[in-house]
Amino acid sequence: MTQDLESQTAAVQTALEAVTNRLAEEKTYLTDLDSAIGDADHGANMNRGFQAALEKAEESDAEEPAELVKTIGVALVSAVGGASGPLYGGSIMSASQTLEGGISAETSVAFAEAYLETVESRGKASLGDKTMVDALTPAVHTYKKSIEVDELAPLEALGKAVDAARRGVEFTTPLRAKKGRASYLGWRSVGHQDPGATSTLFILEELLAVATEALNGEVEVDAESDVHPEDIDVESLETEADIEPEDLKTGETDGGTESEGGGEH
Ligand code: ADP
Ligand code: MG
Repeated sequence: MTQDLESQTAAVQTALEAVTNRLAEEKTYLTDLDSAIGDADHGANMNRGFQAALEKAEESDAEEPAELVKTIGVALVSAVGGASGPLYGGSIMSASQTLEGGISAETSVAFAEAYLETVESRGKASLGDKTMVDALTPAVHTYKKSIEVDELAPLEALGKAVDAARRGVEFTTPLRAKKGRASYLGWRSVGHQDPGATSTLFILEELLAVATEALNGEVEVDAESDVHPEDIDVESLETEADIEPEDLKTGETDGGTESEGGGEH
């Protein structure tokens, strides 16, 4: 990419505005998802966090994208107390270092990988635990492969990553939650889409929309990802699809016995 640091910083600001608007629009939807398997605050958390991030970014005199991205992470951590604040904010903060010197195909892959690694190490969740990791993992793997192996342009790679994240979100519905508040429900979490995976998808969709607009639709984005979450071989992944509806009726199988959470509860 040939943009200088100043215009890249402006692009990060534009992306932040788009994400903030989208999460404000989706506040009720995300809260509805969280009311089914959590405590009905994910929409409010994301909305509050990104409004705060936007305020801090507007006050900021950041001249480099890494600096502005870090500001966003810090604001999210301070404004959101739930699991999603430290997971989103802390991981954005930590991954922002990879963007020092500017955003390129290479540093964007490094950012995506560092972000996923930090979410996993902070939340101790793996693919199949019914968390944001289920949207992120296929998205990040697809993005990296598209750039490094298939040598696609970043915009095209991002389009494929968004498609992979969408499949990841769908993949959360039949799973039983193993991490976070939803894990307290045990089998009763089955049949509901994960809120954090969903907000991850919305953010990626907005990044794609902003990137597409910035490049004036120069690249046709018609992405069909060839990496499906189902194809990723993870030993810990249980085959939830085998669950019979009868198993779900009582809701007392082992609900409430797992207490590992990803943050404050
Ligand atoms: P809280 O659960 O504290 O109320 P939110 O409702 O804002 O926080 O966020 C819930 C989302 O956070 C879940 O849908 C899930 O995607 C994600 N999450 C929770 N715990 C973890 C974890 N340990 N690792 C990764 N993601 C997690
Ligand atoms: Mg919640």
